[in-house]
Amino acid sequence: MLTQNILLVEDEQAIADTLIYALGSEGFAVRHVLLGREALPAHRQSPFDLIVLDVGLPDTTGFEVLKQLRGNAEGRDVPVIFLTARAEEIDRILGLELGADDYVTKPFSPREVAARVRAILRREARSRSNAAPANAIWQHDPEALRIVFHGQPLELTRYEYLLLALLLSAPGRVFTRDQIMGRVWADAPDTTDRSI
Ligand code: CA
Repeated sequence: MLTQNILLVEDEQAIADTLIYALGSEGFAVRHVLLGREALPAHRQSPFDLIVLDVGLPDTTGFEVLKQLRGNAEGRDVPVIFLTARAEEIDRILGLELGADDYVTKPFSPREVAARVRAILRREARSRSNAAPANAIWQHDPEALRIVFHGQPLELTRYEYLLLALLLSAPGRVFTRDQIMGRVWADAPDTTDRSI
């Protein structure tokens, strides 16, 4: 399984150290930054699977950092867990519906944070596989020019293969006859559009 990358935004080094240790021993790769303004650039440079975000940062608040992330194409969907020290911050997290996935109050057990991280990443993986049920039934290997349906490799002619590959590339999309002719029969100019 691929190593999952976590970004930790936390200005208190001692807290960061315990989290880096707890997450590291769960097999996560952790990158740590101290300031809020470092979060978005770090995430854009190499996207993280999840961000653990302290609310009380020296240069900005975790809320602002989350708003920045959510307003950015790369950061829109990344799961975020807030670390918060005060009850009024929890009210804001819940009340403003900023789009965080979870929060943990300080003082916390690092193992609990690691458990929440794992739970959220599992939930994400599940919802991703539910979002693309077609992939479980159809498997397309473009390098081998092969399409597998319910585990059974299909014997296809060249144009059958190209047509099916086109349809699988955009499940649910409707193609016009012209679009299909243009893409599948592109190298056969004398084909009539009745071929489809
Ligand atoms: Ca702090």
